[in-house]
Parts: sequence; structure tokens; C-alpha cells
Amino acid sequence: MPDRARPRVIALANQKGGVGKTTTAINLATVLATDHKVLLLDLDPQGNASTGLGVERAGRGAGTYALLVDGTPLVELLVPTPVPNLRLVPADSDLAGAEVELVAMRDREHRLRLALAADPPLAGSFDFILLDCPPSLGLLTLNALVAAHGVLVPLQTEFFALEGVSQITQTIERVKRALNPGLALEGILLTMYDRRNNLSELVAQDVRGFFKDKVLDTVIPRNIRLTEAPSHGLPVSLYDARSPGAQAYAALGAEVLRRQKRT
Ligand code: ADP
Ligand code: MG
Repeated sequence: MPDRARPRVIALANQKGGVGKTTTAINLATVLATDHKVLLLDLDPQGNASTGLGVERAGRGAGTYALLVDGTPLVELLVPTPVPNLRLVPADSDLAGAEVELVAMRDREHRLRLALAADPPLAGSFDFILLDCPPSLGLLTLNALVAAHGVLVPLQTEFFALEGVSQITQTIERVKRALNPGLALEGILLTMYDRRNNLSELVAQDVRGFFKDKVLDTVIPRNIRLTEAPSHGLPVSLYDARSPGAQAYAALGAEVLRRQKRT
């Protein structure tokens, strides 16, 4: 683990919904938590990362809204998950209003970065902080991109995969220029790959031709276990460790750690 940047903050972002951001946030966080201390912040008002880790809507107290808008200290917002080394700040019910409320606030794009910087010993006690973004490029996602060291962009392996991807890559470039020069494109992750469908391979080749080595070697297959696990409030490795989905996310965790050492 490089001590240069501890914690390493990674945002899962893509303005398209249903591409695997939340599934990747939950399962990558879980795999990294095998050997590291990890924090997951649920920045999507849908709260799927919270539910998927067993933190039901009804049982949620304050969360990322309180962190961003009210300035509640991080230490008051951490909740445990079924994974020993993984803590969560859930999406609270007010989070849907945050996009609108943040507009009028001071430091509106920087509030998450400042919130994490407000308690260096606590933030620094985590090796990784993962940020699960909503499917939009509004202020919640901007806050994530400003607070992050790297962005991981999940891309569904389907015919129109490259369509719309320039929106997120251009946003990353703009944030780099204006707000967070250190931001890196951590990688493009191909998700929901269907090996029985030739189209998946063609799309994967197309995406690799375009983004070259920015595309991670690990590809996440389409796997029903990944869809079932969240309804049990579990990451896939605790639901069915031998499933292709669990194995793929284990490989992704190893690749992310490998790439980390190289940079
Ligand atoms: P996002 O957060 O980008 O909106 P999700 O991670 O919530 O996307 O995924 C959208 C839907 O697709 C969810 O129902 C999820 O369970 C399912 N899903 C995600 N990844 C896979 C996969 N590799 N195989 C099968 N289903 C998946
Ligand atoms: Mg999501």
C-alpha cells in the first residue's frame, strides 16, 4: 500500500444508470477489505449500495447528506457492514435534496473533500475510500470527483457501450483542469460481459481499441449471483464465493492493487 496517499479515494462514476457502479462499489470494497481497511460512501439517493450491504432504508440514520450538507463529522456516520474491515456511510433519505441544496452552498464542489480532510486521523485510518456515485453528472458526482484520487468507470458490454462515454471522460478532464489536478482515470471496467454472445467480444475489442491500456484486464461477466446477492444484503463473495461473479471481483481487486503499485 503506497503511504503517499492514504487513504486512496476511488470514485465509481458513469452518468449512465445500470452499468454496474454499485455492484462494483460493493464487491470491490469487499475484496479490498480482505487485507485493508475500507470505507464505502453511498452518494446515490437510491441507496442501493446501502441496501446491498444490509443497511435497510428504515434502519438508516444520518449519512452522506449529513456529511455533505450539515457538516456532521464522519466519525458519527460510520456504520458496520457484514464485511469485517468494511464500514459504510449510508445514503440518508434527505440525499435526494442534496443536488439542489448544494447549489447555493459555499465550496459546493469541495464539500466531500473538505469533510474527509476534517478528520485526518480517521480518514487516514482507512486504506481505501470508495465513492458510489449516482447516475448523473450533478454536484454529488462532482463532489466525488473532486475528493477522489482516481475514477473507475464501469461500462456495460453492450452495443452502444462507447455511446455517452465521452460525457464522463470529458467531465473527468474538466475536473482535472479546474478543480482536482491530481485526478486519474483509474480505469475502464467492462461489466455484464456475456461470453455466449459474440457481440460482447466485439464490443470489448472496440472499447480496448479506443481506450487502450486504460481498460482493465479483468472483465466482469454477466452473472445472476451478482443480482441476487444484494437482496440478501450481502456482497457476492459472502453469498456464493464460487460463483463466476465472485471470482471476477476477486480478480478485479487483485488488479486494482497491482496497478496501484505501478503508479
Ligand atoms: P449502477 O449502479 O451503475 O446503476 P448496478 O450495479 O446497480 O448499476 O447494476 C444494475 C443492475 O444490474 C442491478 O440489478 C445489478 O444487480 C445488475 N448487475 C450488475 N452487474 C451485473 C453482472 N455482472 N451480471 C448480472 N447482473 C448485474
Ligand atoms: Mg448505482
